[in-house]
Amino acid sequence: MVIKRDGHIHTPYCPHGSADSLDAYVQQALNTGLTDITFTEHAPLPGGFIDPVPEKDSAMRAEDLLPYIEAVRSLQSHYEDQIRIRIGLEVDFIEGYEKETKEFLNAIGPQIDDAILSVHFLKTKDGYWCLDYHEDTFHKLISSAGSLKKVYQLYYETVIQSVQADLGRFKPERVGHMTLVHKFQKLFPADFNDSYFIDEVLQEVQKNNMSLDVNTAGLLKKHCREHYPPAGTLKKAQALHIPFVYGSDAHASSGVGGEREKVADYF
Ligand SMILES: [Zn+2]
Ligand SMILES: [Zn+2]
Repeated sequence: MVIKRDGHIHTPYCPHGSADSLDAYVQQALNTGLTDITFTEHAPLPGGFIDPVPEKDSAMRAEDLLPYIEAVRSLQSHYEDQIRIRIGLEVDFIEGYEKETKEFLNAIGPQIDDAILSVHFLKTKDGYWCLDYHEDTFHKLISSAGSLKKVYQLYYETVIQSVQADLGRFKPERVGHMTLVHKFQKLFPADFNDSYFIDEVLQEVQKNNMSLDVNTAGLLKKHCREHYPPAGTLKKAQALHIPFVYGSDAHASSGVGGEREKVADYF
């Protein structure tokens, strides 16, 4: 099917993204023939959680949250005759911060239309790690966890926890890039098969009536070169009737709607 909706788009409020204006993102969406988009900026990290990334720029700043929502809301009305724009967030699931995340969602939920629940941070005996930040960090994470297989296991277990977590009535209904642990797979090839973990995740996603972010960002990453999740997983998810929403995960306006023809067969 031709994909007309991009449900995963970042904005100038992302401190590690581009400074392209919200208007530039919408213009690109219109130019590429989309009819429905969600801005899913990284929600501010929970109070007390220290961003393990050196630049401390994994998510938007807390003071930017309401201006962000206001800015997208005014775009919504400005473009209402041309495109559906949803106000959204990409919310981190961080083991140990479930209570703070639920409180955050209870407070902000009424003001947003759509959200993604993503795991970017993993907890080992040495503390928290950002899984997708840099290949050197990923290498250190392998040492901390004990092996590459342990990293995969920890990642998928954390995704399962996110799917099972009680995050209240505004819990995001979509699992972000469910195989993000593949991001550096060409540098750190797995000598094992992760389909056991993937099957467990999919069963929980189905049981909890969640959907999947079919995220093409990995195709553009030189050490990954596949979408999240890859073809085999998408076929299994289809058999389980799990709904999909395409997401470019664009961090610059030029990326909106990108690579969607590569996953169109699954829609
Ligand atoms: Zn980002
Ligand atoms: Zn993400």
